[in-house]
Amino acid sequence: MDKMFVISMTDWQAVLGQFSASYSLFAPVEFNGSQDYELVDKENTGNIIYNHPKPATPVKTFFLPVKENVTVESGIEKPAIIMGVPSCDLAALDILDEMYLQRDYTDIYYKNRRENFILIGYDCRSIVENCHCTSYGLKPYPEKNCDLMLARDRHLVFLQSLSARGAELLKEMGKYADIIKASKDEASEINEKRSEITRLLKDKNKNLPGYELSGKLIKDSPDKIWKSYASTCVSCGACAAICPTCTCFLLIDRPDFEKIRQLDTCQYPGFEKVAAGEDPLGELFVRFRNRYQCKYVWKPLKFKSIACTGCGRCIDTCIGKISKNELLEELASEKNS
Ligand code: SF4
Ligand code: SF4
Ligand code: SF4
Repeated sequence: MDKMFVISMTDWQAVLGQFSASYSLFAPVEFNGSQDYELVDKENTGNIIYNHPKPATPVKTFFLPVKENVTVESGIEKPAIIMGVPSCDLAALDILDEMYLQRDYTDIYYKNRRENFILIGYDCRSIVENCHCTSYGLKPYPEKNCDLMLARDRHLVFLQSLSARGAELLKEMGKYADIIKASKDEASEINEKRSEITRLLKDKNKNLPGYELSGKLIKDSPDKIWKSYASTCVSCGACAAICPTCTCFLLIDRPDFEKIRQLDTCQYPGFEKVAAGEDPLGELFVRFRNRYQCKYVWKPLKFKSIACTGCGRCIDTCIGKISKNELLEELASEKNS
């Protein structure tokens, strides 16, 4: 792993000022009590939030927009930087890359955006209610799928390159700021904080079954638990729409042979309805269970990467107040009783 570097907050603001002019710079800022990515310019770099877990929107949305015309040429966009990507969302790029880049067909829209965006991952320096990345073997700090790691501590910003592009970016930052090697004490403080957050997450989710076991439990589960949990589901689809690994879409025909790719989810009624009227997911509890089967039972049969990275957004967002983790914990406790 590359060395860790440190830069003063004053110099960092100068770097951001420069970068906001030469790149499209996105970073998490506060919105009505939560945080989400915003295009920042040199006037509002002071509003950027550092090292708070998970922006409301997963980073996936930059690569797979909710709606796009896939019959127009995929143009080259201005080089872009996304700051503040948490480890759960970076890990989710594994399965998206498998699907969109490593199968028989390469999706040029996805590919161009993946290549155009420089990702700066954040260490999570706190945890929020439904975070459970460590239950699925992930760490609450960036290890892969990003170019730079960033951790802010008081008036200092710590950076570490995780790719050749990250090393280039660090070099570019050196034109506008003094960048020095972090001392041993500073680096070990960062590591101690990482261990503390990892411990907190593990402790908080100690009853949650792991990824593979969850798949087995779901496979062997009786209908009654799904009927019970689905009783407050309103089929809004928010749980799947907000998920960093969900990929379902509709292709909508428009006049002049235009085709619009639009996000779809298995939670919507009619998702699998066919012309003769058959609908394998017609019953609400079956549709509700489908999301869990997709994530934990079927995706592992076809992909190397995990299909749930433990971000907890599906729980945060559910208006039926349904907790995926409570359901999985209940399945695990029934198995043990
Ligand atoms: S967010 Fe909740 S209510 Fe909406 S479809 Fe998902 S489980 Fe059902
Ligand atoms: S299933 Fe839920 S917890 Fe898992 S990655 Fe999707 S939104 Fe996050
Ligand atoms: S089938 Fe459902 S759970 Fe699976 S990727 Fe599609 S929307 Fe997500």
